[in-house]
This record gives sequence, structure tokens and C-alpha cells, in this order.
Amino acid sequence: MAFDALTQRFTEAFKHITKTDRLTEKNMDDLLKDVRLALLEADVNVQVVRSFLEQIKSKALGTKVLTSMNPQEALIKIIYDQLVELLGAQGTEIAYPQGKTVVIMMVGLQGTGKTTSAAKLANLALKKQGRKPVLIAADLVRPAAIDQLEILGKSIGIQVYAEKGSTNALNVVRNGMAFARMQNADTVIIDTAGRLHIDEAMMGELSDIKHLVKPDEILLTVDAMTGQDILNVAKSFHEQLDVTGLVVTKFDGDARGGAVLSVRSVAQVPVKFVGTGEKIDDCDLFYPDRMANRLLGMGDLLTLVEKAEEKLDIEASARGMERMMSGQFTFDDMLEQFNQISKMGSLKNLMKMIPGANQLAGQINDEDTEASMKRSKAIILSMTKEERSNPSVLRASRKARIAKGSGTSVTDVNRLVSQFEKTKEQMRLFSRMANKSGMNFKR
Ligand code: GDP
Repeated sequence: MAFDALTQRFTEAFKHITKTDRLTEKNMDDLLKDVRLALLEADVNVQVVRSFLEQIKSKALGTKVLTSMNPQEALIKIIYDQLVELLGAQGTEIAYPQGKTVVIMMVGLQGTGKTTSAAKLANLALKKQGRKPVLIAADLVRPAAIDQLEILGKSIGIQVYAEKGSTNALNVVRNGMAFARMQNADTVIIDTAGRLHIDEAMMGELSDIKHLVKPDEILLTVDAMTGQDILNVAKSFHEQLDVTGLVVTKFDGDARGGAVLSVRSVAQVPVKFVGTGEKIDDCDLFYPDRMANRLLGMGDLLTLVEKAEEKLDIEASARGMERMMSGQFTFDDMLEQFNQISKMGSLKNLMKMIPGANQLAGQINDEDTEASMKRSKAIILSMTKEERSNPSVLRASRKARIAKGSGTSVTDVNRLVSQFEKTKEQMRLFSRMANKSGMNFKR
């Protein structure tokens, strides 16, 4: 994930300062030096770093941090506030007024994830805002863009307007807008053509489309892996098109991410979304305060809770918990647990949202975890109803059958059975403890 190294550096620097019993001018300077180095290493723009630190220093002096009740905390709070400001303090959500058609135009260089992000945003508008979006495929330059958008649209149940063979993007957009009106759509998202570099033809086409549809939002996609170049690209697009926000894609990669921290103050455009993977759901709204928390190694519980509320079947989880606490844990319950965990997405990313668990997240390999979960699910699905609810019937011949059916080995089956027994035992212990202490898991 972008920013991982930066978070690590911040966490270490803060650990150091919170361990000292007194904050002095000297160790405050040391901390700020560490912060400076961490930001530069993360590829944050030099000027941005300079003014960031100056602001912190002047606020620290202004609020007389050194003589405050808890100087270390006060200093960290100042750094946090400054980070939030750097990332863009005001709300950056897209407004979806009821009864009004919202038009969003996606722009950006080729390969930055424009088409993918257009579909992700349409999906968010449908699922989270209850809108009726239509996508317009007006990228006529990249050969596969139209097919790609059609496939994505189909996968999320959103109509895509396209004219295969057309060479006139403006016409496609005009007809697409008419199509959207006919469909009673209240949200239109237009995928436009990028180029490998900024050029006049591209800007001319984008500017024509802009004047035709008068979009509510012009979102520029930038690839987090691009580094400092993002700043120039964002500046150019903004000068020519008045971009309203950025979608930073490929945040899941190991980009250092510094340009994302600088772009707001250099190009004056707020980050609105981040793309965190290739799948349609891999997209988060960008909240500066939450990002600052995550950056400082303090996790992001709010996003975690939202994700859980959105993805998990809370009723099913509660029922499962109740059953487990009453000692009735079966392989079906285990399967249900695996399914719920899978719905939450990357385990590594989830761990990072838990305050203090950042280092633990480093030990998780999502691919291994996913592969092992898939194996476990296949094994359970190869069991009969009886075997799932009463594992004591699992003799050698049955285990061999299950291994064959699930494409695994008897060792894998044995491993899962032993994991199951352990979990069941833990549940029993936990349940006894909970009963003794009067905890109640019934709803
Ligand atoms: P376009 O030319 O700007 O329309 O770019 P595409 O939407 O085709 O994206 C280019 C490539 O980047 C595709 O392979 C996408 O699957 C991938 N991609 C897009 N967004 C993300 C993201 O947030 N994370 C990752 N890992 N890949 C992404």
C-alpha cells in the first residue's frame, strides 16, 4: 500500500518522542528532522515539506507546546492537524442533489485507470447513493476501452452507451446524454480518451465535451505509482479544464505516495477517491482526517466499521456468535465465517485500519491467506451435511474422498479438522469465561 514506509517512519519517530519524559527544544527538533526525512523519502515535494514544517514550528511556538500539560501529545496533535490541512481539510464528497442530474466527466492520461474508475464511481453512486447512473463510453482512442466499459457496466448492472466504430467523441457524448435522459438516469459518468502524454488534440476534445455537457465534476485520474510527475499532470489539466477533484489509482501498489500528499497544495485540487485494487469494489472515498490517522500509524477505525456495516451480514454474524458461544460450532459455521471474512476484502488492508496493528499487517500475505481460505472452503464444501455437523464421523476413507473432491490432500483435510477442533475448544473456554463474568452474547 502507498504510504506504508511513511507510516512506519512516523510510528517510530513518535514512539521515540512519547518515551521521553520531557519534551525539550532539542528533542522536538529531532522529531521534526525525522518527520522531514520521512516526508522527503516518501517523495513529498521539497517545497511542500518546507512549508509544512514551518507551519508546525510556528504553531508549536504559538501554542507554547513545551509548557503545555502534555507536550508530546500536543505536538503530535499539531502535526496531525497540519497533515489534515495538507490533504485538504474540507469535505470532498461528490454532491448528489435529489432530482438533479449529476454529470461526471472522467479525464486523465492513458493507463491511469480512468475506465476502471468510471465504473467504480458508477457502482458507488448506485449502491451508496441510490442513484440511477448511465456510463458513456467516449474513449475512442484506446482500442479496448469501449469493450472494457461494457463488460464492467454489465457486471454491476449499469447501462453503458457506446457507438462502436465512431470516431467523433463529441457526437457519442451528445447521443449518450440523450440516451441517459431516455433512461431517466439521474447520474451520467463519461469516460473520455487519454493519451500517453498531454497533447493539444486530447485537451481540445476534452474541452469541447466539457462545454457541451457542463459537468458538475471533472475528475482527473492519476496513478499513484507515477511519482512527482503527478504534480505537473494535475497542474496542466487543472489549468485547462478546471478539474474539480482527483482520483488517485493504484494506491494498493508500493508507490511511496508522496506526490499524493503534495498534489493538493501544489495543484489546488482535492483528492476525492482512491483506487485500491483492480476489482470494482476496490475504491474508497478519500477522507483527509482518516488518512492522516492512518499515516500517523493510528489506524482508521471509522472506515473499518463502515466496511463491516456495508459488507457483513450483521444478523448472520450475531447468530453465528450466539451458536458458537453455546458450544454448537459446526463446519457450516466455519464456512460462514470464511465467507464473511472474504467479503471484507484484503486482510492486510483491514489490519492496517486497526490502531497499533500496522506492524502485524506487514506479516500477512493476502495471496497466501486467500489461497488457504479457498482450500478450506473447498474442503468444507466437499463434506456431506452429516460430516459438517458431526465431524467425529470423519474416518480415513471419508477424508480421502473429501480430499479428492476438493482437489486437496488428506494432510490439508487433517489440518482443517484440527483447526476446527481448536477453534471449537477456544470457543468453549471463552464461553465459560463469559458466563462466569456475566457477559451476555444473546441479542
Ligand atoms: P485507462 O486507460 O485510464 O482507462 O486505464 P484502465 O482503466 O484500463 O486501467 C489500466 C490498468 O490499471 C488496468 O489493468 C486496471 O485494471 C488497472 N487499475 C485501475 N485502477 C487500479 C487500482 O486502483 N489498483 C490496481 N492495482 N490496478 C488498477
